[in-house]
Amino acid sequence: MGKTRIGIVGYGNLGRGLELAAERNSDLEVVGVFTRRDPAAVKAKSPVYKMDDMKDFAGLIDVMVLCGGSATDLPKQTSEINKLFNTVDSYDNHGEIPAYFAGVDASAKASGKASIISVGWDPGLFSLNRVLANAVLPSGKDYTFWGEGVSQGHSDAIRRIDGVVDARQYTVPVEEALTSARSGEGREFTAREKHKRVCFVVAKEGADKVRIEKEIVTMPNYFEPYDTTVTFISLEELKEKHGGIPHGGFVIRTGETSEGVVQRFEFSLKLDSNPEFTSSVLAAYARACHRLAQEGKSGAFTVLDIPFSLISAKSPEELRKEML
Ligand code: NDP
Repeated sequence: MGKTRIGIVGYGNLGRGLELAAERNSDLEVVGVFTRRDPAAVKAKSPVYKMDDMKDFAGLIDVMVLCGGSATDLPKQTSEINKLFNTVDSYDNHGEIPAYFAGVDASAKASGKASIISVGWDPGLFSLNRVLANAVLPSGKDYTFWGEGVSQGHSDAIRRIDGVVDARQYTVPVEEALTSARSGEGREFTAREKHKRVCFVVAKEGADKVRIEKEIVTMPNYFEPYDTTVTFISLEELKEKHGGIPHGGFVIRTGETSEGVVQRFEFSLKLDSNPEFTSSVLAAYARACHRLAQEGKSGAFTVLDIPFSLISAKSPEELRKEML
């Protein structure tokens, strides 16, 4: 198989991560970045083009990797872009995935393109492991823990509070719940019992820190259902100690295969950079998407529909020799 020529649509954290991932996959080549902003204002390693110029690249790009946000970008962009190109995206709004799949599937089938949706680690590699664990341990209990890692959504929610300059929120699994989940005792946990929220906040000079802390810990859905700690720090300390975007988590299933015989399935990730890792997963699935298209497949797919051999740079012969 020759190279897979990719286009990067949207240049944020994932877009930058895709360029880095392509540097480590010799069969992937970035043709260009496509942005809604003025290309001159986007400093990428690859050539940058206007989104509207994409149509000139039909036949020159095998797969467009969509790096826009899940909230508003992907629901608009994917079903437009797959009229001309095969696509891979990291749509992560779990509850909306079935509806998103249906829309992307309809446009991909109409154009004869292949679109792999919701690629990343969750949804993505975590989803694969949930299915694997459930298939081999049909009677058991599932647990997913996230962290320790930065939640962009929760950090943004704190930033919107009056008097806050910047903030970083870490989601941290509660050790006691993790130990219990691993033991196979089958306990149910509330949100508060599973995760805690640890916030580092930079307040404006003279701002009322007592009010800010109260607004954070009582924020419905985001913080109220959890044990939340708030620590005020300087902007310098935030930049120095909390500049990265680490994340990770655990998928655990425990179950019995006969009376009293407990089996534990566990998959975990510890990521220094959430976006760089997510982009690495997108890069592997861009290769798979190209292969699907070469096989004449069209429509929407999720990671659950893609054979492992399609995501690997190695040939099936090499995989049989080296990986089984
Ligand atoms: P960003 O906010 O960094 O980028 C999103 C888009 O915003 C970009 O594509 C870009 O589009 C635009 N943008 C980026 N920087 C700027 C800027 N300085 N000024 C104006 N516009 C900008 O998001 P991420 O790359 O971090 O994440 C994208 C999505 O990936 C998330 O919404 C999340 O849903 C998903 N995700 C999924 C994961 C999974 O495991 N499945 C894990 C992690 C993330 P343009 O260039 O067109 O302006």
